[in-house]
Amino acid sequence: MTQDLVSVLEEVDAFVQRRHGLFIDGRSVPGLAGRYYDVFNPATGLALSQVADGDAGDVDLAVASAHRAFVSGVWSGLRPADRERILLRLVSIIEQHAEALAQIETLNQGKSIHLSRAIEVGASIEYARYMAGWSTKLTGETLDVSIPVPPGSRYTAYTRREPIGVVAAIVPWNFPLMIAVWKLIPALAAGCTVVLKPAPETPLTALRLAELALEAGVPPGVFNIVAGADAAVGQALVASSLVRKISFTGSTSVGKHVGRAAIENMTRITLELGGKNPMIVLDDADVDKAIGGVMMGAFLNQGQVCAAASRLYVQRKRFDAVVEGVSAAMRELTLGPGMDQAAQVTPLVSKRHRQSVSRYITSGQHDGAKLVCGGAMPESPGYFIEPALFVAQSSESTLIRDEIFGPVVVVVPFDDVDTAVRLANDTPYGLAASLWTNDLSMAMNLVPRIEAGTVWINSHVPVDPNLPFGGYKQSGIGREFGRYAVEGFTELKSVCIAH
Ligand code: NAD
Repeated sequence: MTQDLVSVLEEVDAFVQRRHGLFIDGRSVPGLAGRYYDVFNPATGLALSQVADGDAGDVDLAVASAHRAFVSGVWSGLRPADRERILLRLVSIIEQHAEALAQIETLNQGKSIHLSRAIEVGASIEYARYMAGWSTKLTGETLDVSIPVPPGSRYTAYTRREPIGVVAAIVPWNFPLMIAVWKLIPALAAGCTVVLKPAPETPLTALRLAELALEAGVPPGVFNIVAGADAAVGQALVASSLVRKISFTGSTSVGKHVGRAAIENMTRITLELGGKNPMIVLDDADVDKAIGGVMMGAFLNQGQVCAAASRLYVQRKRFDAVVEGVSAAMRELTLGPGMDQAAQVTPLVSKRHRQSVSRYITSGQHDGAKLVCGGAMPESPGYFIEPALFVAQSSESTLIRDEIFGPVVVVVPFDDVDTAVRLANDTPYGLAASLWTNDLSMAMNLVPRIEAGTVWINSHVPVDPNLPFGGYKQSGIGREFGRYAVEGFTELKSVCIAH
């Protein structure tokens, strides 16, 4: 296997070798319990760095700091243009450190350095720049009202958007930097303060982001981070009565816990949860484009993507061509560490997650699905697994029902489009879907029938800061991106003036 290894920057070496504290009130601090835990390099299975293991007491300190910063007006009281300027300065600083951030992410999360550069960092920069601009663009409305009392009186009414207060941002491990940015920047643009909890496996880029935010002029206390080795930090955060909004991205099962906890204090929630996303290929589709769509939509980031295509429904005439084309493309993939620029299949995030994906590959074969290609686990201390392609004739397999969140795709044939729609919607999830066809009127007729927050036509997976993103059914509540994201960090106040 040829290798094209990236040279690790000195800045990156120094950063990962540091023992990392929590980030509270503008400073790196040890956790109250003084415990640290190891985070790993998925390509080697070796410890990469040590991070403070926060607990409920640390959450209290971080939330108190965010609350003080909020009520003091040090951030929410700034002119919107000043908040925007500071956020744009943060974007420039992220750009200056782009390669270092990308390398830290690849070392900690395992993904290809190309993905870290283009998505974790590149897309985050674009998203942050877009969201910074919302600081100066939030508006209310003036409304005509018909209040009849006292007789002869007149009223003028309007609404205003006010920052909601302290935000708990809870982030998963699949895109650690990008999803942190998805939450942080709109929350700050709206004038809120934030306590962010990274996933236990991948806290490093968020900790670096907090340092860069301080350098950009985000005042101490406005952006805090509490990392932790288990669920304790998240549980304490969502139970806090000082937190006014929880923005959570993660699994549907944990999302339900978060939702239940939030109701106790009527804390506002946005939940971005799991997906089991169908891709429907019709007989008239361009097969080569559809095969490219599977390779991107299903295997990007080793399938550790909430919107990944994991169920592939192909109309009978194109079925063999799609299965053969995808298998052939999969056999060409090169496996290696994320820091190898020639590698296309990089490790999964953790040993535990690899075991879970591998169990699905084994159980899928017992459930009657046929493994067509891949699925082996190479002998290696890293958390590698080959992408797997299955064919199934019915939708009973666990491979079709469960979110595996790995590089596993099941292809199922269908004869008529009504069946395809029924199969696509036969899931508790509803995050995303794609249709592959050149028949415009067929596509336009099918779009309203698909129960998913995003439907792509002739592509699968691209997102844009201006395009709302979120789930139907058990894939979540609320939307991120665009105006919806920033408005989600506000309360709406109605003002009514008698005159
Ligand atoms: P997870 O649900 O296990 O964890 C998500 C975060 O919640 C982590 O930071 C975790 O430590 C924390 N957490 C765990 N228990 C908690 C509790 N009781 N209270 C509060 N916080 C708690 O998810 P994961 O394994 O890190 O990520 C994979 C999941 O995320 C997949 O289901 C995937 O579909 C989903 N995801 C969704 C989107 C989206 O936008 N819809 C994007 C990325 C990932």
